[in-house]
Amino acid sequence: MMESKKEKSKKDWERILTKEQYQILREKGTDPPFKGKYWNHKDKGIYYCSGCGNPLFNSETKFESGTGWPSFYKPIEIDNISTKKDVSHGMERIEVLCNRCGGHLGHVFEDGPQPTGLRYCINSTSVNFCDLCCDFSKITQNFSK
Ligand SMILES: [Zn+2]
Repeated sequence: MMESKKEKSKKDWERILTKEQYQILREKGTDPPFKGKYWNHKDKGIYYCSGCGNPLFNSETKFESGTGWPSFYKPIEIDNISTKKDVSHGMERIEVLCNRCGGHLGHVFEDGPQPTGLRYCINSTSVNFCDLCCDFSKITQNFSK
């Protein structure tokens, strides 16, 4: 089993995350469209969970969805995320969560491009981008404390 799955308390998360991150990741908030830092971001690299540093999406699978949120047609590893039926706000959607820390990432819809036909609609606040030459330890150092 993953040792990293240890539960953090509300207090721990409030200390680790910014106010915005806490609201999205832990309270299932949503970035306003066309406002997040990554919706129009085109650099090559990896998007990591901003709650725990879990690698989630590769820029190669990012596409222009026109929705105002970063959109990907597949995660780096299917096991790095989990999905859950979400019936909030009078809609039936599939919620996407980080499989390591349980943070809320966004939703997945079945209107994406091939090869998967899926559209992972992800909040910019839920991820941190790291280009291919950045120092990954900088992203993870906050999470080991
Ligand atoms: Zn995470």
